[in-house]
Amino acid sequence: MTVPNRSPVAAAPTAEEAAGDGLSTLLGRIEGRRARARHRLAQAELASAPADGAGRPSRVATPAGGGQSGDRPADGSLGIGGLRRMPPLAVDTGSGRPATGSVAGSASGAAAEPEVRVPAGAAPGTVLMVQNVAPGLLRFALARPPGFSYAAGQSVKLSLGGISRRYTMVSAPHQPYLEFFVELVPGGRMSAHLAGLRRGNRVDLAGGPKGGIALDGSARRHLMLATVTGVNPFVSILRDAVQRGRTDLGAVLVQGASHADEFGYRAELEAMAAAHPQLLSYIPTVSRPGESRNAGWSGATGRADARIADTLQRFALHAADTAAYACGNPGMVDTARRRLSDLGFAVRVERYD
Ligand SMILES: Cc1cc2nc3c(=O)[nH]c(=O)nc-3n(C[C@H](O)[C@H](O)[C@H](O)COP(=O)(O)OP(=O)(O)OC[C@H]3O[C@@H](n4cnc5c(N)ncnc54)[C@H](O)[C@@H]3O)c2cc1C
Repeated sequence: MTVPNRSPVAAAPTAEEAAGDGLSTLLGRIEGRRARARHRLAQAELASAPADGAGRPSRVATPAGGGQSGDRPADGSLGIGGLRRMPPLAVDTGSGRPATGSVAGSASGAAAEPEVRVPAGAAPGTVLMVQNVAPGLLRFALARPPGFSYAAGQSVKLSLGGISRRYTMVSAPHQPYLEFFVELVPGGRMSAHLAGLRRGNRVDLAGGPKGGIALDGSARRHLMLATVTGVNPFVSILRDAVQRGRTDLGAVLVQGASHADEFGYRAELEAMAAAHPQLLSYIPTVSRPGESRNAGWSGATGRADARIADTLQRFALHAADTAAYACGNPGMVDTARRRLSDLGFAVRVERYD
């Protein structure tokens, strides 16, 4: 029998499973996972409350992980569509604490989450947290300038060492810091500066927020396709939805990566999906399941754009009431747009090229 790939936490059981003898055991297991995930999410949501304005530092849980750069060669030097990554970096979360310190990792094996502290009076753009998620993948958080407002899913230009590049914010508008998840490109000029980023450094924001991917408020369902750091606008949108109590979005997020350690927000997204099943179903999928780095992976396999057809079917997503979005690797984005447009979906895209 072919066993469909399923998200480790978020997905509902298949009809075959539900009809099987072990129904009550299965449901018990799922409920147990959901309870654990609800607990983790509650911790994270508590920690990510807006600054209280009383000058106390805000302590914010932020996830670890990575996303899909896709089909890089085994040495990790090239990604899907030619994305390239820099080798592993040093981790600097500041204050001598380990990067994966404060929030428990996912029961399914996703990386633990680092902590962001926002000290009272931190200068705008001060680096509050840096985490090496996986080789060539970096998360960092900056002190948010007073008055800097943005919509979930927008990007902003960052300047460092005289170089400016656009990055999509992972943080949601209610959060007291700006969070980013970046893929470091070998030979890339901004990447070289980001590779040396340390807590306490300053990064300038060149201009205000722009563009990005916005949620289609008229759609009843949402299909979100991402590779690696392309998950950023969707994490921002989903955090925002939780904050607003919009936990009925019916979103299905498919995130592709070459390796399981690259899903930067897996722990958070799994917890979110388990705590709010009507908000999100999350499907991380690895494109190189045979590699030793993916040993133990039991989730979905294949590239994100190769999972479109079965995702549409499994979640009964139809063009008439579903908004589709694709973000990240240009190859994935173009393929997804073509395939979904052919099926009548309106597709919102953001390419990271
Ligand atoms: C709207 C928008 C939002 C973005 N958001 C993010 C984000 O959230 N996270 C993120 O990591 N990046 C994001 N990017 C990409 C980012 O702006 C930079 O392009 C990227 O960090 C590379 O900059 P660099 O200066 O290091 O490379 P450059 O010096 O500009 O380029 C060096 C070489 O690498 C090639 N190159 C550039 N980018 C890539 C890439 N991604 N993969 C492979 N080769 C590349 C270039 O063609 C060039 O040959 C976004 C881009 C846009 C347009």
